[in-house]
Amino acid sequence: MDISENIKKYKSELPDNVKLVAISKTKPNEDILEAYRSGQRIFGENKIQEMTDKSEKLPEDIEWHMVGHVQRNKVKYMAPYVSLIHAVDSLKLLKEINKRARQNERTIQCMLQIKIAEEDSKFGIDAEEAKGILNSESYSKMEHVKVIGLMGMATFTEEEDQVRSEFKYLKSVFDKFKDEFPELKELSMGMSGDYKIAVNCGSTMVRIGSSIFGERNYN
Ligand SMILES: *Cc1c(COP(=O)(O)O)cnc(C)c1O
Repeated sequence: MDISENIKKYKSELPDNVKLVAISKTKPNEDILEAYRSGQRIFGENKIQEMTDKSEKLPEDIEWHMVGHVQRNKVKYMAPYVSLIHAVDSLKLLKEINKRARQNERTIQCMLQIKIAEEDSKFGIDAEEAKGILNSESYSKMEHVKVIGLMGMATFTEEEDQVRSEFKYLKSVFDKFKDEFPELKELSMGMSGDYKIAVNCGSTMVRIGSSIFGERNYN
C-alpha cells in the first residue's frame, strides 16, 4: 500500500465539502505518520485504549475521531482530547460525555448513529429516538456536548441498490432534522467499499480505512 498516494488520491477525488476521516484502527503509528506527512489530519479509531495510546505518541494537531461503539465507563479516557464521537446511541451516553467534557473544560462534538442496515449487529437508534434525544430537556441543558450531525452504516452487501436506498433514507432523515435542528451539519456515511455511493447520496464525511492503509490483520 502506498499510503501517501492513497491520501492524495482521496483528497483530489472527494468533493470539497466532504471530509476524509482516515480510519487507522489496528495500524501502526508509522502508517499514521505517513498519512500525516501527506497532509491528513483527521484519523478515526474504534477502540478507546488504542486511540489514547496513539494520541499520546503522535502529533498534537491530529483530530481524533471515535467511530466505534462507545462504552460509558471508557469515555473518561478520551474526554481530554477526542474531537468528534461518531456513534452516540443513547441519552445516557451523551450525559456521560457531557460530564467528562466538563471535567476537562471542553466541549466535545458528537453525532447520533442511526440504524439503517438490515443486520442486527449494527448499532444505532431510529430517527424517532434521535429526535427524542435532541428535543429532551436534559440535552438542552448540556453545555459540554454538541451534536453536529448523524452517522450511519449501510448493510455489508454487494447489492448496491440496497446500500443506496439505506444511504438515501439517512439523507432524508438528515434533511428533515436540519430544518428542526440547524446545528446539524455533518452526515457521516461511507467506508472503503461504499463511499462513492455515500457521497452521491449526500455524505459530508467518509470513513476510509482499508483502501488507504491496506487490509487489517486482527491477530
Ligand atoms: C473500520 C471502520 C471503518 C472503515 O472501514 P473500511 O472498510 O476499512 O474503510 C469505517 N467506519 C467504522 C465505524 C469502522 O469501524
